[in-house]
Amino acid sequence: MTANTPFKLGRLAAGLFLSAGLATAAMQAEAAATIQILNLDGAGEGFNDPTPAAPVGGNAGTTLGEQRLIAFQHAADIWGATLTSSQTIIIRASFDPLTCTATTAVLGSAGAYNIWYDFPNAAKAGTWYPQALANKLAGEDLSGGDPDGQDIQARFNSRLGLFADCLPGSPFYLGLDNNHGPLVDLVTVLLHEFGHGLGFQTFTSGSTGAPFFGVPSIWDHYMLDNTTSKLWIDMNDAERAASALKARSLVWTGTNVTASVPNVLSVGVPRLTISGPAAGATAGDHLVGAASFGPPLGAVSVTGQLMPVVDQANGTGLACNPLSANNALAVRGRIALVDRGTCTFAVKTKNAQNAGAIGVVVADNAAGSPPAGMSGTDATITIPTVRVTQADGIALKAQLARRSRTTSGVIADLGVNLGQYAGADANGRALLFTPNPYQSGSSVSHWDTVAFPNLLMEPSINADLLHSVIVPYDLTFDLLQDIGW
Ligand SMILES: [Zn+2]
Repeated sequence: MTANTPFKLGRLAAGLFLSAGLATAAMQAEAAATIQILNLDGAGEGFNDPTPAAPVGGNAGTTLGEQRLIAFQHAADIWGATLTSSQTIIIRASFDPLTCTATTAVLGSAGAYNIWYDFPNAAKAGTWYPQALANKLAGEDLSGGDPDGQDIQARFNSRLGLFADCLPGSPFYLGLDNNHGPLVDLVTVLLHEFGHGLGFQTFTSGSTGAPFFGVPSIWDHYMLDNTTSKLWIDMNDAERAASALKARSLVWTGTNVTASVPNVLSVGVPRLTISGPAAGATAGDHLVGAASFGPPLGAVSVTGQLMPVVDQANGTGLACNPLSANNALAVRGRIALVDRGTCTFAVKTKNAQNAGAIGVVVADNAAGSPPAGMSGTDATITIPTVRVTQADGIALKAQLARRSRTTSGVIADLGVNLGQYAGADANGRALLFTPNPYQSGSSVSHWDTVAFPNLLMEPSINADLLHSVIVPYDLTFDLLQDIGW
């Protein structure tokens, strides 16, 4: 018998409580939880910043600090109306200067502040739960009124968009109506970060595979490596660390998420299929990144001989300038293989299109998987483009080495796999984000970026997200239900 002593990890804090929940008696019959924001900011900064602000998008605050707090309360209310718990959820929150440059910035971060295992009514023994969920399951405040007993910690970037060295011109949009235009929608970011704090994270290290203090997390019961058919809970540290690097191979097995995948995600995964007499070991399907320009993949499947563009002394082909006569002869009516680098993806595709190519495959110029998407716009592009990993590019070029000026014997087919949901595996289970190399803070504890429509809990905040955490728009609440909410 194991002693059933709740274990807790805590940290020091102090501050002022500000109610942000649905605490009225009339609401108790509905799904509801009370969420409070604990303002940790000092006088004159963060939530207390006195800079005057004009009302925006339903946010009637009259100072920057007030508007920040109202946005926090709004996001907390969305979660509070979705969750059910008899126990108040407390978010310790602050706005602080976080990492930024002129072109990139950390928006914020959040996670469970206290975690527990082997508490009363824990569904799985010897397993970490975030405190907000542990309190719900236990039906009591496990921290017992501890002044450091908050559930979630949230920190946000106080300088975002307001200074030349911190994404100038792109501050948080503080309106509540999601009408953010080119700005970063704070309510969306908050819904995402609160999601982590409520339980959308494993406490096991994805980089080493080591469980936190030797105890697995509730997440580890639901993460399956498709290449080994093993759950994280049944792996050793090395196996977990390896599975965290297998692109589009780690899936969530919880029944709520899997049941909702067909109601949330679209059918069709972008793909590159290679065949032909010279295909060799490259024959078969390859992971691809899709382009934001050109026609959507799958509207028409594009098939043809794959031919490399060669315009550099080292044998690579950047296609940053109009193609030479030889390169144009090679790609005309065929699919061009070009290398990433020097100019934009759209410029490469446009040059290939002008030379008569019917499609483009861009080989990455840096190691890593899966291949990322390609941004850019050019309304005059009419042919599809996909991006493959550097490793796939090298393998394809090796098969193209013995080609004629117009034929390679390697056939490329650009299209979509209609037998699969975008963001799920062949069995309809949602994919977790497992890039190689490992991305600290992003890997494992997010959905894969291939998900479409975009999901709240992808590692980056997409501009088209709605303020929803439930079906048919999102899978976040389903995952939380899988772990016990
Ligand atoms: Zn996140």
